[in-house]
Amino acid sequence: MALIVQKYGGTSVGSAERIRAVAERVVETAKAGNQVAVVVSAMAGETDALVALAGELGGTPPPAREYDVLLATGEQKSIALLAMAIQALGQPARSFTGAQIGMRTDDAHNRARILDVDAECIHRELERGVVAVIAGFQGIDDEGDITTLGRGGSDTSAVAIAAALGADVCEILTDVTGVYTTDPRITESARKLERISFEEMIEMASAGAKVLQIRAVKFAMHYGLPLHVRSSFEEEEGTWVTREDDVMERLVVSGVTANRDEAKIRVHALRDEPGVASALLTPLSDAGIVVDMIVQNLARDGSTDFTFTVPKNDYARGLELAQATASKIGAGGVEGDDGIAKVSIVGLGMKDHAGVASRMFEVLGSEGINIQMISTSEIKISVVVEEKYTELAVRALHAAFVEDGAALLSPEA
Ligand code: ADP
Ligand code: ASP
Ligand code: MG
Repeated sequence: MALIVQKYGGTSVGSAERIRAVAERVVETAKAGNQVAVVVSAMAGETDALVALAGELGGTPPPAREYDVLLATGEQKSIALLAMAIQALGQPARSFTGAQIGMRTDDAHNRARILDVDAECIHRELERGVVAVIAGFQGIDDEGDITTLGRGGSDTSAVAIAAALGADVCEILTDVTGVYTTDPRITESARKLERISFEEMIEMASAGAKVLQIRAVKFAMHYGLPLHVRSSFEEEEGTWVTREDDVMERLVVSGVTANRDEAKIRVHALRDEPGVASALLTPLSDAGIVVDMIVQNLARDGSTDFTFTVPKNDYARGLELAQATASKIGAGGVEGDDGIAKVSIVGLGMKDHAGVASRMFEVLGSEGINIQMISTSEIKISVVVEEKYTELAVRALHAAFVEDGAALLSPEA
């Protein structure tokens, strides 16, 4: 007998028919003698619809506490429906909100962090042979207020619950059959990976591969909990996200990703002196805006240009704050651009290969794609390009690095 945590995403519970299919799969897993805790997302499109409603009525930005009360309703609907569908098949099941399983978080509304889960209360149900159907994405803070974990946060709920329960397996069941070398919706040549390391998956998630929320992978890595990403529609084996030592293929590039959710802000003609970067970015971090890429260049006249990216949701506020600081410190001006995309290549094998970056730039150059910003880590290279080139860039890089593969780079290159 095993203790299995299964997480079903929005498309997987997107209709009554889909919920029934999920219920059948859950019951099958329970009938095979396993204890099963199920974590579910809101039905497909539900969270987006709630976000849109808040946009119409709640002001910009909507009050964070109420926004979370609203967004959490999507998952509450799913747990009730799935628990009913499981019971209808003759299997005991009970639904639980985040608060009911003691999913304690900090009070950072809309992006809360998990502090603790009451594993005992879930164990009690499982030991009685009841399937626990738990709302993902939501928790409760010390004041008793409802919080949410950021978009895609049900993945993180599932991993935290699996870690707290000491689960044997944490399955992330979704609408693709695993983690691919690139988004299979962008190119048919995307290939499913059998295994991928936590490190690579973290980089891919942070670079826009939304198949797993980045915090979920960080959690899993911290607890050494392998994740099995697989289809909720089919039985086939998916992708294991696991420790680096357990990954057989050490690919130079294991993934190509794109992220259209960032915007660029450029402050020009700044004085080149200590404290300028901090003066610009501190108001943004105080406002809870996470800055991703940063580039600073020195002009011939000794002034500097400072460019950075922020999430598109925070673009308007970020631009306002940058403009306020720029006029205070006497910068030349501020420009923004939300028509950009970040395209990245990720791979453990990059550690041992030179020439990957120059090959990447050559591929983009030969497609006539201009690179606006560049950032690198040990196993990732990201570039900012004009948004209209996103898919072309992904396909070209996937063809060059994944389809033609290692042939391009000899081991000692
Ligand atoms: P869920 O609702 O199950 O949480 P998501 O929509 O959050 O599902 O994530 C699954 C989607 O992630 C897929 O439909 C796919 O389009 C997208 N995706 C992006 N990059 C990748 C990748 N490298 N491998 C697999 N899926 C990816
Ligand atoms: N329903 C939430 C969202 O759409 C959480 C999730 O699906 O993981 O972002
Ligand atoms: Mg998701």
